Parts: sequence; structure tokens; C-alpha cells
Amino acid sequence: MYCKNCGNPVEQGAAVCTSCGVPVGQGTNYCANCGAQLPPEAAVCMSCGFAANTVQKAPAVPGAKSKMAAGLLGIFLGGYGVHNFYLGYTGKAVAQLSIAIAAIVLSAISCGILIPLAFITPIWGLVEGIMILCGSINTDANGVPLAD
Ligand SMILES: [Zn+2]
Ligand SMILES: [Zn+2]
Repeated sequence: MYCKNCGNPVEQGAAVCTSCGVPVGQGTNYCANCGAQLPPEAAVCMSCGFAANTVQKAPAVPGAKSKMAAGLLGIFLGGYGVHNFYLGYTGKAVAQLSIAIAAIVLSAISCGILIPLAFITPIWGLVEGIMILCGSINTDANGVPLAD
């Protein structure tokens, strides 16, 4: 076990490097496995193949909603606001569902004259579904990033 900050050996189980005082596991200058010096931003140690700086990737947030699921719900069922219910955007979801129901009722009582209204929310949902898949919409209603 080597200090990733200064490259000096540290005892197994030590919390802080005795040479430089940096907490063990912090730093990106040296390989923790063999102590070899690492080039900046190296992901893998060239000397031993040990994964050097994998901790830099943000861990998946527990409870994150699936981007793929939300996008597909928007594309196929977006006319009823299903993707927004899924993501927690309840106000927008209720609006889409209400407009969808109103459009069905209006097109029925108008003998089909107002049937174009029935296309409003499916197109709206489709656009939002694509925006979710493209990453234009990338958080749920609580600001939690969507998982890939
Ligand atoms: Zn050190
Ligand atoms: Zn190494």
C-alpha cells in the first residue's frame, strides 16, 4: 500500500500517510498498489495495471430514475403524462392527463371536428421523451440526475 499523494509506503490500515499527512486513498500522483509515479489523469497504473483513479467517477445515486424508462414512457405514453408521473413532475403530468381527457371528450361531442386536439399531448410527450433520451431533461422533479 502506497500513499497516492507522495508515493511513500504506508502501513496497511493506516488512515493518514505518515510522510505527507494526506488521508490514505487521496491524491492522484502515485499508484496505491505499487508506488509508481502516475501521469496526470491516469486511469490505470502503467507499472502494475492497478485501476488508479476510478473514484473520480460519480457513484450512481440510490433511487435515481431510469433515463431510458422515462424516455420510452414519454414517447409511448407521454400523451397521458406517464413519464412526468414517473419523474415526479406531478403538476405537468396532471395537466397532460387532463388535456388528453378533455381532447377525447371534445372530439367525441364535436363528432370528430376537434379530433386534432387529441394530438396535442402525445406530441408534447413525444418531444419530452426525446429530450429525456437526449439529456435535455436530465433530472427528476427532486433534482436527482437520471441514471443511464
Ligand atoms: Zn504521503
Ligand atoms: Zn501500480
